[in-house]
Amino acid sequence: MKRKKLLTASEYVDGIKSGDRFILSRAITLIESNKVAHRELAQEILSKCQESNQTSFRIGITGSPGVGKSTFIEKIGSSLIERGHRLAILTIDPSSQITKGSILGDKTRMNVLSASENAFVRPSPSSGTLGGVARNTRETILLCEAAGYDMVFVETVGVGQSEIAVHYMTDLFLLLLLPGAGDELQGIKKGVVEMADLLIVNKSDGDREKLAQLTRRSYVNALRLFPLKDKDSRPDVYTCSAINGNGIPEVMDALEAYAKQTDVINKNRLEQDKYWLRQSIESGLISSFFEHPLLKEELAKEEQSILEGKTSPFLAAERLLRLFEKRSK
Ligand code: GDP
Repeated sequence: MKRKKLLTASEYVDGIKSGDRFILSRAITLIESNKVAHRELAQEILSKCQESNQTSFRIGITGSPGVGKSTFIEKIGSSLIERGHRLAILTIDPSSQITKGSILGDKTRMNVLSASENAFVRPSPSSGTLGGVARNTRETILLCEAAGYDMVFVETVGVGQSEIAVHYMTDLFLLLLLPGAGDELQGIKKGVVEMADLLIVNKSDGDREKLAQLTRRSYVNALRLFPLKDKDSRPDVYTCSAINGNGIPEVMDALEAYAKQTDVINKNRLEQDKYWLRQSIESGLISSFFEHPLLKEELAKEEQSILEGKTSPFLAAERLLRLFEKRSK
């Protein structure tokens, strides 16, 4: 296959700003690339894009597989487009890193939005650590904003650390739930409910409408026992059907109302920057530790000593950390 020639940073930026989705996709591919030259070009594009100060309302969305995330985004997305919004839909799918397959990405999802001029659907990158993917997604959000998308959905599946990452890169975090679903209060154990700004019981249709209402009430009651986050109100709980559209206008109204709270959003984004500062330091430290040739060698030796019962993991860790400190001085 013939390689596509790289454009200059300005050509990418002009293309992105003029709404050329093909160029936007190519710029995102540069962000996701492992090649240093690509990443440098991507950083140049990013900083030029940020000059225009275009921003969006960023919505995170999570929920167990099968709860209806893609159906919900398709439904609400189509209606938001009718209200004049332009949408980007990004995904973070940690399963693709673990299993090399993916929970979110393998099926054909969001056909209507994929075909719409006013939506940009970008699947999860299929490789990289969660830290790397999270960073790429944050940068991709910025490119989509420069391209004029005023609402960005970042979807993830309800497993693992990816929910925390999505929570820290969005302005509003939605948790989708099923009516009843055996475990009355899904998500509470995992701490996801604490992160959520809005809970939505989906599949409130047919026989399940009543059950959905009951589930909603259980959550409203349970949330009363939760400590308030740094906000003065507890998350709202809605019911909806992504299939027949019940409750969707109410959810849309809520999203649009949140999107108008720019002071809250801006303050929250600064707090999020603090999180990403720490996060970047952590991942930098981890890679400089584990990629250091001497430490790699010493780590292998300590592992062997542990297997032979000659040392404890804690003593070994202390020795390696001391060595690391000495090396970095
Ligand atoms: P995801 O894995 O969370 O993205 O879930 P999907 O959007 O792929 O939906 C899983 C299944 O649930 C599909 O068969 C959908 O048609 C169905 N589904 C999604 N939303 C609703 C809903 O509101 N009502 C009903 N009855 N089915 C739904």
